Amino acid sequence: MTRILIAEDEPRISSFIEKGLRAEGMSTSVVADGQEAAALAISGEFDLLILDLGLPGLDGFGVLQRIQAERATLPVIILTARDAVEDTVAALSGGADDYMRKPFAFDELLARIRLRLHGTSRAEATILRSGDLTLDIRTRRAMIGQQTAELSSREFALLEMFMRHPDQVLSRQQLLSRVWGFDFDPGSNVVDVYVRYLRTKLGADTIETVRGVGYRLRGSNM
Ligand code: CA
Repeated sequence: MTRILIAEDEPRISSFIEKGLRAEGMSTSVVADGQEAAALAISGEFDLLILDLGLPGLDGFGVLQRIQAERATLPVIILTARDAVEDTVAALSGGADDYMRKPFAFDELLARIRLRLHGTSRAEATILRSGDLTLDIRTRRAMIGQQTAELSSREFALLEMFMRHPDQVLSRQQLLSRVWGFDFDPGSNVVDVYVRYLRTKLGADTIETVRGVGYRLRGSNM
């Protein structure tokens, strides 16, 4: 089982990450203090570290330094504030492998984690199919039959989420946190708006409304 260490002192964010990773079958530990994070990171108990730069005790840069000195092979993804470009650059040159800017969508973090864990050599399925729809994850191209559908990146992400969970009803809340991120107002109707966009581009009956529950991608009978 993949073991992920989450070093983050904001409980809202760490639990958002933890819930998502556990749902993917990974094991997680959360620490909110930099000293503790560094000790665990070099213990050999974890496969990857998600590291907030602003931590009490020892900041993320300090944690990176300890890792560089004692366990430089550990993949590290840092979490940075939206506008902290210099911090991001400093952390990457200090040994971090990748970064996420807060707020972020969980699926984006998951994609980066997978990339760091398996490297680029892993032949992951990059083509998703359902009925007439084909989605090429690598080239970000969507096709209906032989025709290309022009999707915005958010529309693409939403469709990808549906296609990864065929025949499954996905709630607004699930779609919101997986495609938009934890900072979105749960009362937002953005999911409904984007489902409407997808229906306009892909056909009205592509996505089914399941009243009171959420949405489902229609299978091969479309
Ligand atoms: Ca912090």
